[in-house]
Amino acid sequence: MSKAATIGESTQTSSAENVVLRRAMTQCQQCFKSPVQPGVSLFRCSGCSVELYCSRACQKKAWPDHKEKCMINRKHQSSKEGAERLRLLRAFTTKHRPSISEAVVRALDLCADVSRAQRDMLVLYLTARPAPVRTEKAFQLIATDVIPIGGLWPEREAEMKMMLGKAHDTITQHTSAPGAVLVTLACIDQHVVNICPVCIQSLEGLTPGLPWEEKLMRMLNEGIVL
Ligand SMILES: [Zn+2]
Ligand SMILES: [Zn+2]
Repeated sequence: MSKAATIGESTQTSSAENVVLRRAMTQCQQCFKSPVQPGVSLFRCSGCSVELYCSRACQKKAWPDHKEKCMINRKHQSSKEGAERLRLLRAFTTKHRPSISEAVVRALDLCADVSRAQRDMLVLYLTARPAPVRTEKAFQLIATDVIPIGGLWPEREAEMKMMLGKAHDTITQHTSAPGAVLVTLACIDQHVVNICPVCIQSLEGLTPGLPWEEKLMRMLNEGIVL
């Protein structure tokens, strides 16, 4: 197994499915090399800015298969549509913020070690529902993952940690909460991502060991808002 396929191996929620999802977002789509391997850097397809490749050779080899998807990707990206999808994902995140912030405390087991919030993040892999009736049901949660910050996009690690740091400072200055933790909502079929710092809920009063993942799936997928 390649090194890249084992990122986050030690986390409790990694599964074969997560490895596949992570691969799609972080590795060369032709040879599956990853930038965590020495000497590998990836660039995006200049047509759609979605697919990743490690070399012109891989890009060329992948083109016959990618051609059609590239066109679909580009169609999805007319800026107005892209902005609208991000707006919807942000609205969905806001609706479910209480459930997400409860889940992340358990997912990262912050009760045992609150400093983990500075190293790891919760990733929610979503798919878009065809025609949502309500914002809170606009996306479906299909898998969760706990990985190091920067585990999906190493080139954005510094930016993400800065975002987290700012939120942490604001929260600790103005509230009694212990700080912030990062949650990434990634809609895999529409290539839209919302990285959002969430306030760490009071660590007292949370019972560790509850099946947080099932609960989160139910809340998000049934559109239950706290
Ligand atoms: Zn490659
Ligand atoms: Zn493309």
